Amino acid sequence: MNNMLKFLIDLQEIDRQLFEIDEKKGSLPQQVEKLELQAESVKTELETTQLTLEDNQKELLSIKGTLMDSEGKVKEKQDKLYLVNTNREYDALTNEIETIKSEMAIGEGRQLFLELEIGKLEETIATSKEQSTTFIEQLDANRDELKEKSDLTDARQEELESQRAELIKNIGQRYLRKYDRILKARRRAVVPILRGSCSGCHKQLNPQTIYEIQQMDAFIECENCGRILVVIPGDDN
Ligand SMILES: [Zn+2]
Repeated sequence: MNNMLKFLIDLQEIDRQLFEIDEKKGSLPQQVEKLELQAESVKTELETTQLTLEDNQKELLSIKGTLMDSEGKVKEKQDKLYLVNTNREYDALTNEIETIKSEMAIGEGRQLFLELEIGKLEETIATSKEQSTTFIEQLDANRDELKEKSDLTDARQEELESQRAELIKNIGQRYLRKYDRILKARRRAVVPILRGSCSGCHKQLNPQTIYEIQQMDAFIECENCGRILVVIPGDDN
């Protein structure tokens, strides 16, 4: 067997594995990125809910303060009612008390609303905290798994690349250029014949060509696709 053909077959096998690794690796960083974005969005949502809760709590506190002030004012004015001398003063004070009381009713309504709202938000936060903890645990596990896979793949890739570098030292520049050109265009540059056809493009080969390929001592290209045709020892061809 022509040594050059043997080297080219080995080179094709290395490149096939490198292609596979490239394809597998392609989606790993995107998968990790997707998980990280999801975790980020869970976190942001939780933070937003927390801020809304804090705003409501502040408003509730301020409303309670205002209501207490108003209660004080009402009491003060009610005490003054006993001290006034004229109907006009009495009416004016009664009006003021009514105004304060109706403002208080609005405040009390808002207080009730806020108390309900705070209860709901606290529940939401408790649930999302639980969910995000579970989610982040899953994310970490997935990320570790992906990282491990990626490291293994990197190691294998390095190994193949160094094998490739060694191997191509045995292959002449002219053949290597031809091989690389076909590889780029066709993805596989060296293909076995299969049942009398080129297994790259399925073109039927004539008996003379098949015979020459079977001798494995010449560099024969498929006249249809340009791939280098070989027989792989042990293959059915
Ligand atoms: Zn072909």
